[in-house]
Amino acid sequence: MLVVMKAQATAEQIQAVCEHIEALGYRAHPMPGAQRTAIGITGNQGEVDRGNIEELSGVAEVIRVSKAYKLASRDVKEEDTIIRFPGTDATIGGRNLAIVAGPCSIESREQAFAIAEQVAATGAQFFRGGAYKPRTSPYAFQGLGVEALKIMAEIRDRFGLRIITEAIDNETLELVSHWADVVQIGARNMQNFSLLKHAGRLRMPVLLKRGMSATLDEFLMAAEYIMSEGNYEVILCERGVRTFADHTRNTLDLSIVPAVQKLSHLPILVDPSHGTGKRDKVLPMARAAVAVGADGILVEVHHQPEKALSDGPQSIYPDQFARMMDEIEQIAPIVDRKLVRGIRVETVAAQSHVAKTK
Ligand code: PEP
Ligand code: MN
Repeated sequence: MLVVMKAQATAEQIQAVCEHIEALGYRAHPMPGAQRTAIGITGNQGEVDRGNIEELSGVAEVIRVSKAYKLASRDVKEEDTIIRFPGTDATIGGRNLAIVAGPCSIESREQAFAIAEQVAATGAQFFRGGAYKPRTSPYAFQGLGVEALKIMAEIRDRFGLRIITEAIDNETLELVSHWADVVQIGARNMQNFSLLKHAGRLRMPVLLKRGMSATLDEFLMAAEYIMSEGNYEVILCERGVRTFADHTRNTLDLSIVPAVQKLSHLPILVDPSHGTGKRDKVLPMARAAVAVGADGILVEVHHQPEKALSDGPQSIYPDQFARMMDEIEQIAPIVDRKLVRGIRVETVAAQSHVAKTK
């Protein structure tokens, strides 16, 4: 159920409707839009009892949302969600492409800084690097943990880049949310409902990667888990699915981009690195991702990929990253997008997330 407020409804009227909904035992999710605020109602087992909601002041209409995902749906919010990073001009969603670049794993301070310096100089706004790695083998490199988180916090302070890194369970979620700007939930955890709910209790952006065999509905329902807990800053990421094709590691499903955009207001990035598993396929698929209308690219970059402790074969060299940026910059205007290079950090407080949260 969705309560659509009148365009001129006041903040007090919106608040009163939310309180009314909660008094009925449901959860209210106010979603401000450009024209009007809509309030999603969740927490109901069956049909929501409309009661006298329609008669409350400021209410335009009450409508039934037929889709299983509600808060992720365009029915609730027509305009695209734009995620902002306080104190900076970085955004994810909207007209500007968001570029997330960095190694698969943080391997050392030297490695991380060498890569960060190059991707920052080329114009990425976001730096990625795994601190906790979900590896197929328990004997493979598992990540440097907190040490890696601290290295990335230093990178934010030095280059201004906002930090995206993965939490693999509820324990690491707490640490990652303390140090990073965006928490990543990986493909293997897309249906870890406990982790999704915990991420939903955070008040910071969550990058949700598509499970390797997830349908569009399952993907959006996973986002709904996070949103149902009150965290509406969800960024989707297509990273390839398992198919019979073996010329690539996964099959990058670019058709999910327009499919998501039709149904949902959430931004969607494309990861051509995990999506192909092969360095020489990354650039062509990054170009295609921008052409298909993705809100940005997440890409693995390594200055010495032959020595990488994880995902070396799919990591591109910094000069290939520079070429990728040049090429997508040219494609962007054709689909009414723009590649803005670099990140402007406006306030001292934004320099350090850690300082802000303490
Ligand atoms: C990653 O981004 O390094 C990663 C492990 O991705 P995925 O969850 O898509 O495999
Ligand atoms: Mn990786």
